[in-house]
Amino acid sequence: MNRIVLPGGTIGVLGGGQLGRMMALAARRMGYRVHTLSPAADTPTGQIAEAEITAPYEDLEAIRAFAGGVDVVTFEFENVPADAAEAAAELVPVRPSGSALHVTQQRAREKAFLADRGFPVPIFARVQSLDELAVALGAVGLPAIVKTAAFGYDGKGQHRITAIEQAETVWSVVGRQEAIVERVVDFAWEISVVAARGLDGAIVDYGAIENQHVNHILDLSVSPARVPPALVSRASTLARRIAGALDYVGVLCVEFFVTHDQQLLVNEIAPRPHNSGHLTIEAATTSQFEQQVRAVCGLPLGVPTMARPAAMVNLLGDLWAEGEPDWDAALALPGVALHLYGKDDPRAGRKMGHLTVVADSADEAAERALAARAVL
Ligand code: AMP
Repeated sequence: MNRIVLPGGTIGVLGGGQLGRMMALAARRMGYRVHTLSPAADTPTGQIAEAEITAPYEDLEAIRAFAGGVDVVTFEFENVPADAAEAAAELVPVRPSGSALHVTQQRAREKAFLADRGFPVPIFARVQSLDELAVALGAVGLPAIVKTAAFGYDGKGQHRITAIEQAETVWSVVGRQEAIVERVVDFAWEISVVAARGLDGAIVDYGAIENQHVNHILDLSVSPARVPPALVSRASTLARRIAGALDYVGVLCVEFFVTHDQQLLVNEIAPRPHNSGHLTIEAATTSQFEQQVRAVCGLPLGVPTMARPAAMVNLLGDLWAEGEPDWDAALALPGVALHLYGKDDPRAGRKMGHLTVVADSADEAAERALAARAVL
């Protein structure tokens, strides 16, 4: 279905989180209507959308009814079951497609997809049992990380193993389910490339964004990444080839480890706008969220030029431990933009919002973003 959805049309978003919220803000600015479906009520996306349906993703009748009321369906959360994407696709285009979702929502499938096509990935093995885990640890080498194959994000379902004796404990902690074992990469940097691919196969990207994680959760992103320029073009080429290999329509993010000898290894593909791309809202001519709207609606992609260096820091629920953060103090600093996602329960580790700072250099942006968060 190569249908184009023009402004005035309705975009259906499966998932109710902040990615859907920021996409809905871009969509509404462009004159689209947005409907959202997720198992929760009063969601970050639902607060912006015209219509919010509360139903489990497994309720295929609800999914069909939802799809019947929109012109195109997308998702902001890759753990939507493939069945739900298929049910929606009976009625309207689903972009990106259910098959791209199928590959990228399960780590083992995603790693195999990449490795089979010659994309560079860390040394890994798929395991289904404790015996296979023990063998895989021997083959992959230590230290290693065991990651559940399904439904993992932000380091959820990940366990580091430094000695073979830990295998049994880790296997029970991961829930005795299919997993991948990956050699720990001693990386110099983590970078990501956010790219958009249109219905016509056109691809744009935002270059390399540098990422720092704390407790496996993204903490700081900086654009442009402070890495050798040759790496940037290699990373961008790989991300574009991956988008092509998936016959992808929409925004995707490819996360890389950069080793000390400047090899790029793909860590993960996110089939949606990505946390590291939030800074494109302030810094790019066209944000990743507007690109997602354009791509899923079949419109021409926008210019991805990053007009200014920028940095983004996440605001996790931990910041609320001693009451409401001091927004005044952070906003008094030059170039600081505040994004809050409309979540009312600031649990530790929960992404509640982010701050973006644009500045004259990447160093200055990063420094100021960290300083702005520190005064909260
Ligand atoms: P993931 O959910 O797989 O993207 O992992 C979240 C974060 O955990 C990554 O961004 C890294 O900081 C860290 N991590 C995951 N896998 C590895 C690995 N094989 N080697 C080193 N660090 C890793």
